[in-house]
Amino acid sequence: MLTQHRQTWLERIYLPEVLRGLSVTVHHFTRNLSLHIAHAAGLKKNVPAAVTIPYPDVPADLMPRFRGMHRLTRKANGTVACTACLCCETACPCHAIDIVPEAVDDRAIEKRPKSFEIDLSKCSFCGFCVEACPVDAIRMDTGIFDVAMDSRAGLVWGREALMGNEQGEGMEVYPPIDREDLAPRAREVSRS
Ligand code: SF4
Ligand code: SF4
Repeated sequence: MLTQHRQTWLERIYLPEVLRGLSVTVHHFTRNLSLHIAHAAGLKKNVPAAVTIPYPDVPADLMPRFRGMHRLTRKANGTVACTACLCCETACPCHAIDIVPEAVDDRAIEKRPKSFEIDLSKCSFCGFCVEACPVDAIRMDTGIFDVAMDSRAGLVWGREALMGNEQGEGMEVYPPIDREDLAPRAREVSRS
């Protein structure tokens, strides 16, 4: 059971906490400024001057398990691996996935997605869809996290876009993923 933290008298008068926060800021500012000056003088080159990175000039070095934007994997013949079982759509807590199945003349799979859409404006990037998929057809290992659009419609990604942007009917609506922009480590994971 969690017990409520009772504020001390010093915390309640607020000012000491403000001063404590300011001291942390001043500490980092003077440390970074000193290190930048030292770097300019050719000293302490092995000590980084800031914990931040100059994104987007320098891509973020993402952890391998980072959940970025989704992709649909392919079978060896290049077709979509998804069998339209709807497990991911059912598991999605945000109702962000919309799949329309269609029958195929292949008894091994029986169905494939006629359309497969993910609405990123609803998605919470929880990864449940990846966990739910029985055939490893959906992954979140692209390393793409900076999807910005000027309309909600642009945040609905279709099957072709999710498969890696083959030329398809969705291409006029869904902009291509520039895979060269992916963070290096995430790109390695994507290839494995
Ligand atoms: S990551 Fe989570 S919220 Fe997003 S589509 Fe998958 S299951 Fe739904
Ligand atoms: S991505 Fe996987 S879980 Fe979702 S419909 Fe396709 S096969 Fe089923």
